[in-house]
Amino acid sequence: MVNKNKPNWLRAKLPNNPAYKRLHHIVESNTLNTVCQSAQCPNMGECWSRGTATLMILGNICTRSCTFCAVHSGRPTEIDLGEPTRVAEAVVKMGLKHCVITSVARDDMKDGGAGVWAATIRAIRTRNPQTAIEVLIPDFRGRENDLNTVLDANPDILNHNIETVKRLQQPIRKTANWDQTLQLLKRAKNRGFVTKSGIMLGIGEYKCEIEETFRALRKIDVDIITIGQYLQPSPQHAKISRWVTPEEFKKWEQFALSIGFGIVESGPLVRSSYHAEKHSDGYSLNRKKR
Ligand code: SF4
Repeated sequence: MVNKNKPNWLRAKLPNNPAYKRLHHIVESNTLNTVCQSAQCPNMGECWSRGTATLMILGNICTRSCTFCAVHSGRPTEIDLGEPTRVAEAVVKMGLKHCVITSVARDDMKDGGAGVWAATIRAIRTRNPQTAIEVLIPDFRGRENDLNTVLDANPDILNHNIETVKRLQQPIRKTANWDQTLQLLKRAKNRGFVTKSGIMLGIGEYKCEIEETFRALRKIDVDIITIGQYLQPSPQHAKISRWVTPEEFKKWEQFALSIGFGIVESGPLVRSSYHAEKHSDGYSLNRKKR
């Protein structure tokens, strides 16, 4: 990770304890991928020591090459039909009351991997009926039927990141786009789901654009927002424009709450799934009503 002169507030704890090792063993022994590892998340020491990880399905090679993301891009792996069951077993072993699942983008698949997503949600639910399931999904290139395949499996929280402000969408997320992201979140909300999105700061956005982004998400009733510092994974990735201070993150948290977000996670090390278990405490799960 290229982050010279990283301020002290971004220095994460090094992992070395039995809980961390146990989690590592669960992931490895079930031949699973995590976005924690693939995205070089700075919170691995903390999250894994608390016994939680974000499992990443559909392989560990992404068909897209967003300029902010550390996940490898290229020719993706074969579909692993046993993966949904192993994910469900791993959630049992971790004993999670709230799990977060994400995936690489699979633009090579006709349904973008939506069928595997649905199978995974159902497998987790069958083995862990009390566990809240948060899904951090790709955009399926805007295809509503593929989104509906995922929603029909009835996750508890539908998470899809806007990542950055409108002006920087094209350079940062080459294949995705602002309107498509908002439309996906709106469609999920229209079907009664708790929705969540996230943004990285420090890519070159202006403060007025951050406000615009928050307001655009609130306009479609997004419930939960995560706000974190962008970290440059390698010299080939988008450069960091600035280090956002903890005080500024606090201000953004207050602003987000003031315009109606129900839960805000804002801080230098915040990532989409950071402290996600708090979100199911904040929202009574309403899966039966849908
Ligand atoms: S914040 Fe999310 S991606 Fe990072 S270590 Fe924690 S669970 Fe994994």
